[in-house]
Amino acid sequence: MDLSDKVAVVTGGSRGIGRVVSQRLAAMGATVIINYVSRSDAAEETVASIQSAGGKAAIVQFDVADAEATQQSFKEILSDHGKIDILVNNAGITRDGLLVKMKEGDWDLVLDTNLKGAFNCMKAVSRSMMKQRSGRIVNITSVIGFTGNAGQANYAAAKAGLVGLTRSAARELATRGITVNGVAPGYIDTDMTKGLSEEVTEKILSEIPLGVMGDAGDVAGAVAYLVSDDARYVTGQFIHVNGGMFMG
Ligand code: NDP
Repeated sequence: MDLSDKVAVVTGGSRGIGRVVSQRLAAMGATVIINYVSRSDAAEETVASIQSAGGKAAIVQFDVADAEATQQSFKEILSDHGKIDILVNNAGITRDGLLVKMKEGDWDLVLDTNLKGAFNCMKAVSRSMMKQRSGRIVNITSVIGFTGNAGQANYAAAKAGLVGLTRSAARELATRGITVNGVAPGYIDTDMTKGLSEEVTEKILSEIPLGVMGDAGDVAGAVAYLVSDDARYVTGQFIHVNGGMFMG
């Protein structure tokens, strides 16, 4: 799986799953553009880890929920690197709460980041991918987008929306040699899941046939496959990386 001469953009590439995806694509030879929104220290650490392993990486800060900033940033990436071959829409957040109590702001923020953010990036990149008649887009959705989850109506709606967005874009872009797929992680050990109580963690683990949490590398492996030549005939699909928690 050789990605030499390929340019990849990973949103939220600075921490957690995005960091390991970035490291994996760089190890496969790609130049990886790492996006983050607020924690420059984490982004710098990720780039340093890639460079010290002999890989190529750069940082671009923007908020994926901001359409104008996203458009402008992709313009700059295209002008600096000449092309974008791979886009991984990974940036995501949670603002959990029961539906009856959920603040409108928490609904909007999660939808704007997790769903509109992916739309903004896909829109910003697809014209250039269409011109070059090739491209790979991978959207990181979630098991929750398929099953729903009490306390995560906003997150589940955004992730389920991402499923529809992925399939529609796959249909629109296929004739231009662009594939659009998704990876749906289950319960992965990152900052996002660190805050869960022992009780909630125990309950989730009891629902996972493999009995353990996944790690970011498990998700990165699926992304690596989808952006490789091995997946050239795969589009509009989802790889579930969840220890058997949901069998789609
Ligand atoms: P983390 O919280 O560890 O990392 C989130 C990343 O997204 C950070 O790099 C963060 O940047 C970036 N980010 C957040 N908001 C924005 C924004 N508005 N614009 C640009 N970047 C942003 O999350 P995970 O690694 O756990 O999750 C990654 C993806 O995987 C998410 O889409 C998540 O929903 C999904 N997922 C995770 C699961 C899990 O169990 N962990 C399960 C299923 C899906 P910064 O550091 O600047 O804040």
